[in-house]
Amino acid sequence: MSYMPKHPIYGALHCIAEQTTFKGNRFDAVEKILSWLIKENIIKPEKCIVRYQQNGHRFLEGIKKVVTGDFPDITSDYVGLEYNTERETYFSNPSLDYILCPNCKSDLESNEEHEDIFWKALNQWRIHGGDEFVHCPVCEKKVLFHAFQFGTGCGFSDLAFTFFDCRGLTEVFQAEFERQLGCPVRLVVKHNV
Ligand SMILES: [Zn+2]
Repeated sequence: MSYMPKHPIYGALHCIAEQTTFKGNRFDAVEKILSWLIKENIIKPEKCIVRYQQNGHRFLEGIKKVVTGDFPDITSDYVGLEYNTERETYFSNPSLDYILCPNCKSDLESNEEHEDIFWKALNQWRIHGGDEFVHCPVCEKKVLFHAFQFGTGCGFSDLAFTFFDCRGLTEVFQAEFERQLGCPVRLVVKHNV
């Protein structure tokens, strides 16, 4: 049996709760989303490893009704859905291009020292249970990670779902996903994972 995908994996579409710390019970939220996706014939009920986690689910034909762009190869062992209930950062590119403070509009990325303050706060949050905001080094306001404007796609949350080999989700599906989850989502597409 070959473990190579039939076609190169396009990448990953991260569907990230637009709350750095999910306000509801994220485990209940996961169960609700999975049950709904299973009912809609979008994922298989059985758990398996798709890419990284034991909690993956392979796609079924229903996924084709809710994605935009090319259909994912649902026969590939590397294609399906995974979720993450740990604090994690998601990026579409290694570089963010710019990190604009919503208050003073300073670009933290343009100053090495300021950039460092942002990344340190983010790592502190992700690894050591730190706060979910940065004291802007220019205006000294407390700014939530999500409130900054970034040059490329990124998101930070303790609840996210990853659709492997998907390029986009239909607006109708995203709206229903948000309704089921009880909070808005941010989509970040990462190429060639
Ligand atoms: Zn500022």
